Amino acid sequence: MEPGNEPARRLGELGQRVLRESGHKLTPQRSAVLELFNGSVGHWTAQQIYLELEGCQPSLSLATVYNTLEIFEELGLLRRFALPDGQTTFDRNTTQHHHAICVECDEILDVSIPDDTLSALLDADPALEFEVRNASVWYRGVCRTCSNCQS
Ligand code: ZN
Ligand code: MN
Repeated sequence: MEPGNEPARRLGELGQRVLRESGHKLTPQRSAVLELFNGSVGHWTAQQIYLELEGCQPSLSLATVYNTLEIFEELGLLRRFALPDGQTTFDRNTTQHHHAICVECDEILDVSIPDDTLSALLDADPALEFEVRNASVWYRGVCRTCSNCQS
């Protein structure tokens, strides 16, 4: 297994345990959504999940997908954030991080940031009195795959 898949694998096992312990049933639909986050980079809108799963889950509706994502978010398994175009997407990486988006293929990559970086940025301006609660930063550029295509 690639090292990059490690957090995803844990989300699957963790997800099943958290659902069970919080008294939620592990329905086939919930299981399928967990599996999807398991085997992927980890940023999905409800619409994308619905389109990906409807073929093998005929009883699935978009409302069920939304409902499932909201439960997973409440249980702390996923984090919700807004894409630059305003769509809501869900992220299996629940730690504080930024995102880089490829302008060629729309791939979204996680950019890790040390916890104190944002406060340090604002602290650098003594005239600004502001407490950071949340931040969303997007870097636009070209991913490695697309960059290799161009050369
Ligand atoms: Zn790309
Ligand atoms: Mn992310």
